[in-house]
Amino acid sequence: MSALGPSTVAALCAPVGLLIGSFLNVVIWRVPRGESVMRPASHCPNCQQPVRPLDNIPVLSWIMLRGRCRTCSTSIAWRYPAVELGCALLFAAVGARLHDSWALFGYLVLAAALLALSVIDIDHFLLPNRVIYPSAAIVVTLLAVASAAEGDWDSLGRAALGAAIDFAIFFIIWFIAPSAMGFGDVRLAALLGFALGWISWPALWIGIFLPFLFGTVGGIAMAAPIVLLPMAAGALSGWLGGVGFIESISGAEPVDPRQTQVMFAVAGAVFLGALVYLTLSILRRVERGRHIPFGPYLAVGAMAAVFALA
Ligand SMILES: [Zn+2]
Repeated sequence: MSALGPSTVAALCAPVGLLIGSFLNVVIWRVPRGESVMRPASHCPNCQQPVRPLDNIPVLSWIMLRGRCRTCSTSIAWRYPAVELGCALLFAAVGARLHDSWALFGYLVLAAALLALSVIDIDHFLLPNRVIYPSAAIVVTLLAVASAAEGDWDSLGRAALGAAIDFAIFFIIWFIAPSAMGFGDVRLAALLGFALGWISWPALWIGIFLPFLFGTVGGIAMAAPIVLLPMAAGALSGWLGGVGFIESISGAEPVDPRQTQVMFAVAGAVFLGALVYLTLSILRRVERGRHIPFGPYLAVGAMAAVFALA
């Protein structure tokens, strides 16, 4: 698309990310509470005093005011500047990755939506339609424009199929085990299927697979953190020994050594982790399953697939 290099586009995207992050803070606080994101203007939740424009500069104002309201000195959560900074870093990374693609704008909107949805899901176990639907409309429109600009209609067709496939997979899981996830996850999966399908088929499959991998590791980490040790050991031995193992049984070097390493690392982590986890469950040393939100895993898995394959 442009002649601008990755670092230039990253530097242009970062300040936009700061401002969008500031808006996401409003969305994260107000949407789950059923309030308007437009009115009233930002105010202190404690003393209701409107925030002055100079005190509303992303990250900087929070540091200058030492995390306190100027009027009543009530403390302002560190999460506000963290979301702004996180959004800036995310925008810089997406900008660097997609600096020469018209699809850049669609994936910036996707990244912002996923950041807001992840935080809301962690707080409220909720993926609000008021965030998913507008985000989906904008992402679909921007990626359709990107297809038109690049004359690449295959991407758009693949995206539509990706949305249907990802929706179907999550719908079946939700239908079979409604306690495992909410219907918001099914709706979000359709949007992610569209965005990942637009990139390529491998991006779609990896974007569908990764959230389950991350979710399993995250769930295990919360229920029995000790299991992370054998998982790490299994991953390391798989990574180091995978290629040698293939050579010793087949007598030849594997076709794709890096792919072999990744496969053996995942297999090693799953095998040793499952072994220790099952042993602990039999000995009843594992806490019973706690409900954890799946939205953040969907978001991280999808963004990992975007960065790896876009
Ligand atoms: Zn105040």
